[in-house]
Amino acid sequence: MEATFTDLNTPARLLLGPGPSLVPPRVLRAMATPTIGHLDPAYLSVMDETMALARYVFQTQNPFTLVLPGTGSAGMEAALYNFIEEGDPVLVCVAGYFGERICEMVTRARGDLRRVDAPWGQVVTPAQVEAALKERPAKLVAIVHGETSTGIAQPLHEIAEVVHRHGALLLVDTVASLGGVSVPVDEIGIDICYTGSQKCLSAPPGLAPITIGPRAEEALANRKSKVQSWYLDLTLLRKYWGPERVYHHTGPANMIFAMREALRIVHEEGLEARFARHAACAQMLYEGLEEMDMSMLVAPEHRLASLTTVCAPAGMDEMAVRKRLMAEYNIEIAGGLGVFKGTCWRVGLMGHSARPENVVTLLGALRKVILQ
Ligand SMILES: *Cc1c(COP(=O)(O)O)cnc(C)c1O
Repeated sequence: MEATFTDLNTPARLLLGPGPSLVPPRVLRAMATPTIGHLDPAYLSVMDETMALARYVFQTQNPFTLVLPGTGSAGMEAALYNFIEEGDPVLVCVAGYFGERICEMVTRARGDLRRVDAPWGQVVTPAQVEAALKERPAKLVAIVHGETSTGIAQPLHEIAEVVHRHGALLLVDTVASLGGVSVPVDEIGIDICYTGSQKCLSAPPGLAPITIGPRAEEALANRKSKVQSWYLDLTLLRKYWGPERVYHHTGPANMIFAMREALRIVHEEGLEARFARHAACAQMLYEGLEEMDMSMLVAPEHRLASLTTVCAPAGMDEMAVRKRLMAEYNIEIAGGLGVFKGTCWRVGLMGHSARPENVVTLLGALRKVILQ
């Protein structure tokens, strides 16, 4: 072969998009720990500690809490496929791009899909869910907590009450929020909840923590058919993560080392302090953007601290601004999705990225780019 291949030399970016977020050096060092076998007693205790730390972040006592190999979408697929059998009635609350993705997966799982829709940038109301369930009961109701395409934080307490009163299971996507905004799984009564490693937890992409409550465990035990996906079959996965330690897949040891360290950082900081830091950084960002005459897309009471959608000034080429931010300042932010494509930016202040110095750097760079 003629070609020569240089050392890997990608730039270090300031990651302020909707994920991945900056990974703390401690997590990268943990990841470089020598690989060990997936049934090595030393690895098994790392798995146990990772599960305990995941329970802390989910604010749950659920014994059935583990970390899936795969990104946030693997969490979504596991959450849906394990609880849907052919023809099961499923209600999905859709207020953005990831709600749509859930619908697509429900259909592929051969569930009988119904949906309630809210306009992008708004929340789904308990009354909408109630009306839909009165019209037709569902086995499962799925909803996104932090909708990354719009920057809304979906209120969950009242919807959970409605869902349970109608005898359904509540499934919540917290990929963009867990670890940055409080999601008290047990207090709300969420039955199935998953997240991703690379957003507010600030580990590299590739893992999806998931937790399953007692009602959902029972539903799983009562399945009549096998889960379509062997790889994401939670019953099999639990036999590897639980006391039986039955081989299922080769545990991605270095990824789990990274996850454990990222969760340990969350635990050291403490959830309350972490949520307060995310809220304070988001507030700083809103104020800085407003000073530049830009307005947030979402009403203040529904904003997701970890992800802000902001309208670009009228007539401005939003993509050109993003390109300059990256080329000249090494900063990554994202453009709008779906109905906000071409008119908005999405700024993530997630996990290790949510620090005042990063907000100031972004605001300064944005000012330069917009004024020139
Ligand atoms: C990012 C994201 C996902 C998908 O996660 P991947 O890691 O990209 O597979 C799902 N839901 C929400 C709300 C997200 O923000």
